[in-house]
Amino acid sequence: MDEEHFDGKKLIVSDKEWIRRLTPKQYKVMREQGTEPSFQNEFYDFKDHGIFVCAGCGLPLFSSDTKYDSGTGWPSFWEPLFPENVTYREDKGFFSSRTEVICSRCGCHLGHIFNDGPLPTRKRFCMNSLSMNFHKKEESSSL
Ligand code: FE
Repeated sequence: MDEEHFDGKKLIVSDKEWIRRLTPKQYKVMREQGTEPSFQNEFYDFKDHGIFVCAGCGLPLFSSDTKYDSGTGWPSFWEPLFPENVTYREDKGFFSSRTEVICSRCGCHLGHIFNDGPLPTRKRFCMNSLSMNFHKKEESSSL
């Protein structure tokens, strides 16, 4: 069976395996570039200290240290934990184009990046809570 294959850099997971591994709501967001409802998601107003990791593969994505309240109703960050862990892709819509943020390892959709964030980067990483799992600080201290 070849449900999952790691080539040293990228994790290739079959669609059948993603369906098995993710909830239907996660699949819609993470594999079909969906967007979860604002203000009705797990992390938009979440203030614990720790690390947010990819819900698809566990890759560390964001620290609570760079999380801020953007007022949008989605968890927002001004910087990724490791720049190489996120990859950008142009998301061309009918009227505007946005920049999609995906996991560098498994390719799952995480959210979008905008240029209206706070200092020091002025970036806003607008994430879906469904695309992330959270590890409390104690658990992630070895990172
Ligand atoms: Fe991932």
